[in-house]
Amino acid sequence: MSTLKRAFWLAAASVFLAAVAMLAGLSPWSWPDPPATEEREAPSALRSPLPEALEKHVTTERRLAIPDRGALTPTAIVVHSTSGLSLMETLAALEYRAMGVHLLVDADGRTYRLVDLDRRVRAARGFDDVALHVSVVGGVDEELLKNEAQLESAARVVRVAADHFGIPKTNADVVSRRGIFSHQQAKYRWGGFRRGERKDRVEPGEAFMRELLRRAGGVFVEEKDWKGRAEEGWALAWEGGDLSTRGALTKGRGLTPTPPPALRSVEVVEARRMKYVDRGTIEPRGIVLHFTATETYDEAIEAFERRRLGPTITVDVDGRAYQVVDRLEDKVVAAGGTNDHCVQIEIVGLGESVLLENSAQTKKVIEVISELCEKYRIPKTNRDIESRRGVYSHGQAKKRWGRSAWLWGTDFDPGETYMKRVIEGAGGQYVEEKDWPGRTSDEWFILYDEWLP
Ligand SMILES: [Zn+2]
Repeated sequence: MSTLKRAFWLAAASVFLAAVAMLAGLSPWSWPDPPATEEREAPSALRSPLPEALEKHVTTERRLAIPDRGALTPTAIVVHSTSGLSLMETLAALEYRAMGVHLLVDADGRTYRLVDLDRRVRAARGFDDVALHVSVVGGVDEELLKNEAQLESAARVVRVAADHFGIPKTNADVVSRRGIFSHQQAKYRWGGFRRGERKDRVEPGEAFMRELLRRAGGVFVEEKDWKGRAEEGWALAWEGGDLSTRGALTKGRGLTPTPPPALRSVEVVEARRMKYVDRGTIEPRGIVLHFTATETYDEAIEAFERRRLGPTITVDVDGRAYQVVDRLEDKVVAAGGTNDHCVQIEIVGLGESVLLENSAQTKKVIEVISELCEKYRIPKTNRDIESRRGVYSHGQAKKRWGRSAWLWGTDFDPGETYMKRVIEGAGGQYVEEKDWPGRTSDEWFILYDEWLP
C-alpha cells in the first residue's frame, strides 16, 4: 500500500476513533488501543548511535511504531509542544498518525529519543525532509515558561544539536529552512494547521521560542521581521506591510465607464462600484461566497480597495445586489486557489449569525447564485472544491489552500450553516465537510485532525 494511502487510512482511523471517544464521553485523547492491522509497523529499533555531544543530555529511549521515511541530514530544528498531552498520550497519538518527533522533553526535564536523528519523520509540513523535531510535553507558551527544569533541558538539547549539525541558531529565515523554528512559524509558511486551531494556541508559542532561543545562545526574531514575511507564498498571509504594492487601482468607480449589469439579479450603481487592480480575465466555472465582516457596504468597499482585494458582486443588507466590477469575467482576488475560476460574492454582515437572520439578503443571494449557475452551467453543490466547479464558502477554500490572513477557528466565512441554506435554497445539494472528497488527505492546508505533534 502506498505511503499516501497508508497516511489516509491512519488519518481516517484516528478521526473515527476520536469521534467514538467523544461519543463515549471520553476526552478525545483517551482512546482505546488501535486495532492491530497490517497498516501498523513494528516498533523500529533505534539503530544509529546518538551523536556523542548529545549522549549526556538524552536520558532514555522509547521506540515509536511508525514507518521509516528515509535518511535525514538536518539543516533545521523545529520546536513543538504536545498541546496538553502527557508523554504516554503523545506516544500513542503519534503512532496513530504515523507521525513522530526525534526528541521529546518530558515535564520533569528528562529527554527521550524516539527516532534516530538521521531518519525523517512526519511532523511539520514543508520541513520534514530537513528538520530535526524537538517537542516539549505540556501546554502552550506561558504555560511552558513556568517549567524551569524543562525549559533548561529543551534549550540545552537544542543548543547542542544545533552546534553538532551546524544549524544557525536563529528563526530569522524560515524560507531557507536553515535555523531553529517554532512549528507555529512553519505553519505560517506552509500550512498544516489543526482543525479549529486558535491563534493563541499554536504550539509551542512565540514567547516560549524567544526564551528557548535566548537560553540556547541564539537570536530570536519577531514575526514582523521574519525574512520575506510580506512576500507571496505564506499560508497565513501578512497584511502588516504596504498593501499598495499589490498593484495600482486602474479600473472601476470613476476610472472606467459604468457598464450595464451582466445579470438580471444585480444592479450597477456608479457610487457602489469598486476601484480595483486590472488582473485580466477568467472563465467562470464556480462561485465562492464570503461575508464582509463589516456592518455596512461602504466600509467593505473601502477595505477591499485598501487591501487590493475584493469580489465580483456584493449583496447589501437591504437585499440589493451590486456588480462592483466592469465584467463578471474580470479577475478579482478574494479566495486563494479559486480566483482564476470563480465569481466571488461578498455578503455584507459581521458574521454568519447576522447573515442567517437576514431573509431579504439571503433570498437575493439565492437569486444571484441561481442565475450565475444557469449562465455558466455551474453545478449547485459544494462537494468538490478541487474542481472549482460548484458553489463554495471561502472557508472551504481556506481549508484547502490557505493563503489568507485569517485561518483561525471554525467560523470561516460565510459559515457552513449559511452555505447549506443558500445551496439548498437554490435547489442544489449541500455536502458536509466530512464528505468532501479527499478531506482527510495531507494536501489540505487545514488538516482534518484535532491534534498534531
Ligand atoms: Zn508541532
